[in-house]
Amino acid sequence: MSKFFSERHAALKPYTPGEQPKDTVYIKLNTNESPFPPSEAVKKAAAEQAGMLQLYSDPECLELNQTASEFFGVAPEQILMTNGSDEILNFAFMAFGDDKNPFAFPSISYGFYPVFAALNRVPYKEIPLRDDFRIDVSDYKGIDANIIIANPNAPTGLYLSPDEVEFLVKTNPNHVVVIDEAYIDFGGESALPLLGKYENLLITRTFSKSYSLAGARLGFGIASKALIADMNTIKYSTNPYNVNRMTMAAGNAALKDVAYYKAGCEKIIRTRERTRQELTALGFSVLDSKTNFLFAMHPEIGGKQLYFALKQRGILVRHFDVEKIKDYNRITIGTDEQMDTLMDEIKNILKGNKS
Ligand SMILES: *Cc1c(COP(=O)(O)O)cnc(C)c1O
Repeated sequence: MSKFFSERHAALKPYTPGEQPKDTVYIKLNTNESPFPPSEAVKKAAAEQAGMLQLYSDPECLELNQTASEFFGVAPEQILMTNGSDEILNFAFMAFGDDKNPFAFPSISYGFYPVFAALNRVPYKEIPLRDDFRIDVSDYKGIDANIIIANPNAPTGLYLSPDEVEFLVKTNPNHVVVIDEAYIDFGGESALPLLGKYENLLITRTFSKSYSLAGARLGFGIASKALIADMNTIKYSTNPYNVNRMTMAAGNAALKDVAYYKAGCEKIIRTRERTRQELTALGFSVLDSKTNFLFAMHPEIGGKQLYFALKQRGILVRHFDVEKIKDYNRITIGTDEQMDTLMDEIKNILKGNKS
């Protein structure tokens, strides 16, 4: 730390992203990226913008917002496009959090939530999960705080029904409820239909997972016009050109290429369920998943031990050094071939472990 670093941030513990190693070519099953490339139309749309990069991007994202508004059946003023969904999440903490309006979120969830809270000096409460890793929405009834919940949750993969989400929104009418739907395209039902009924609901989405655009950095929020207007105040006070031209064009083309992305998600769901069966047959406990990953543990090998053994064999998964989940690994669903290699290596590791 330099002597110039503000004391305000001296204790800040930044978010640790999953490894992005440059040394060996790993099979990357650690950061929930899509194993499939973007569609041809998306590549073309992004490339067309390359020759226009001397010009700023549209701060209003008009064309992309229009496409998204038709796609999701909401008004364009109900959408705010951001530099990854991490940015809209940060905007939410900046816009709605303060000493009188803390945030509450599950103790096991996306690791960025406490970081955004600390960065913006927003107090927060972490609500423990139940023993079976589930979120019990009754724990949040009238909690007198803004709420942020990933649905499905990460890294567990477990999912709340629309009725449970409605309970959160309805029982906390004086606070904002943020539902982070980063993984909703992998089998869950979105809370979007609730938007017409509740002015305090903010849904966040990302193009990083189901739309194969993690490297483009595009996410967005959908909410009542009033909440979006508040977050626009934050956006225009930080970075009006937060989405670059190539990314904006890529996102627009992706939303118009529904069939390609739907097929990709269906493929991942099939591969996920097959992998679940194979892991279970080997003795793993695997949580239910409505995401593009599985959260699994084996009674005979520690989570960290399995993580290192797989890494030695060229496969990266994500292990979290957190007491309640230390026996588990989060395994991103890749292609069928990648999952076959994973299963072969896991069998070898378990065999070696016994002998
Ligand atoms: C991946 C992820 C995000 C952020 O994705 P971006 O790449 O910033 O759009 C947000 N929330 C959860 C729960 C995630 O897993």
